[in-house]
Amino acid sequence: MPASPPSVQATKKRVLFLFSDTGGGHRSATNAMIEALNLEFPGLFECRMVDVFRDYLPPPLRYAPEIYVPMAKYPQTWAAGYKAFDGKRRSRALIASLYPYVQRATHRLYRENPADLIVSVHPLANTGILRTMKRNPTPFITVVTDMVSTHAFWFDRRADIVVVPTEEAKEKALGYGVAEGNVRVVGLPVAERFRVPPPDRMAVRERLGWRADLPVILLVGGGDGMGPMARVAKAINEARLPATLVAICGRNEEMKAKLEAIDWTMPHHVYGFTTEMPDFMTASDMLVTKAGPGTISEGFIAGLPLVIYSRLPGQEEGNVDYVVAKQAGVWAPKVAQVVDAVRTYVLDPAARRRAAEASKRVAKPDSAREIARIIAGRVGVYN
Ligand code: UDP
Repeated sequence: MPASPPSVQATKKRVLFLFSDTGGGHRSATNAMIEALNLEFPGLFECRMVDVFRDYLPPPLRYAPEIYVPMAKYPQTWAAGYKAFDGKRRSRALIASLYPYVQRATHRLYRENPADLIVSVHPLANTGILRTMKRNPTPFITVVTDMVSTHAFWFDRRADIVVVPTEEAKEKALGYGVAEGNVRVVGLPVAERFRVPPPDRMAVRERLGWRADLPVILLVGGGDGMGPMARVAKAINEARLPATLVAICGRNEEMKAKLEAIDWTMPHHVYGFTTEMPDFMTASDMLVTKAGPGTISEGFIAGLPLVIYSRLPGQEEGNVDYVVAKQAGVWAPKVAQVVDAVRTYVLDPAARRRAAEASKRVAKPDSAREIARIIAGRVGVYN
C-alpha cells in the first residue's frame, strides 16, 4: 500500500480504544467507531484497540473474557455481584481497593500507548486509567455500551465527555455525579452496514441459500451464543411453523454442535461466529435474542420485531423494559412464551409489521458517525 503523504501523517490523531472481549458488544461498538472515523475523516486518525483485561491486567482479572461466559450461567451470583457495587460510594470503594493491584498494569498501558485521545468502551476501563494519568491527562471519552441499566462503574466524573445511548442512561450518569454539560445522548455505535443495508433482501437470501417463500426467524445469543439457545431452538422446531430458523451461535462451538444435532423438521441454518450480521438481519423477519444491547440496537435499525428470551441480571434488565415499553417486541423468559410470540409474528403479518415499525422508530443508525464527530471535535479537527 502506498504510504500516506507526510503532511497527512503529521496531522494524524492517535485514538486509543479501551475495550474487552467480555461478550461481543464492546468489540462491535469499537469497530463501528473506528469505521466511522475512517469514513468521516479519511486519513486523519490512527486508531488502536487494547483489550484492557487480556492485554494488561494481572491474573485473575486477565481472564475476564474467558470467565464472562461461565459466570453468566449463574445469574444469581452475577446479580449479587453486580448489585453489590452498583452505587456511587460502593463502586468507588471497590475500585479504590483494587487500584494498588492494577496500578502497575495501568501505568504500563498508558505509557505504551501514547494517544491524543482515549475512548473507553468498558465500564471497568475508566477509573484506573483516569487515576493513572492524573498529572498528565489525555482527553478521555467514555462511550457507554449498556442501554438503560448502566452500572456505576461506567461513570467517572473525570471523563471529559460521557456518551450514552438513551435518556434513561443520561439520568443515571447525572445521578452518579457526571456534569450535565459533559453528557451526550447519542446511541450505541453500530457498523455502517446496518446504516446502509443491502437494497435487495431477497438477493441476500439467495446468496445465503435461505428460502425466499418463508419468514425467517433469526436466533442470536450475543457474541458467545449465551442463554438457553438450544432449548429455544428445539421448541421453535417442535412448533412446526411455516418459517425458516437461522441460529447464530457466535464463538460457542458447543452450542453450534448442540443445534446441529437437533432432529430438525423445519428449514434451518446454523452458524458459528459470523461477520455478516447486517446481512443476516436484513434478510430476516424477526429477532429472537438474549437482551444484549448491541444486538438489540442492530435489530432496531434493521426494523425487526424482537423476542427476548433471556437477560443478564443487572446490566441487561433495563434493555428488556425499554424494548417492551417501545412496543418493539416482547419479553419471553419461558420457552413456551418464545414460541407464542414467534407464532404470532409468523402467522400475523399485521402484528409483525406493527412491532417492526416500532423497532424502526427507536433506531439510531447514525450514532457511530455522530460519535466520530464528537471524537474529532475533542481533538480539534472538527467543529
Ligand atoms: N455478533 C457478531 N457475530 C456473531 C454473533 C454476534 O458479529 O456471530 C455481534 C452482534 O452483531 C453484536 C455483538 O456481537 O454486535 C453482541 O453484542 P451484544 O451487546 O448483543 O451482546 P454481548 O455478546 O456483548 O453480551
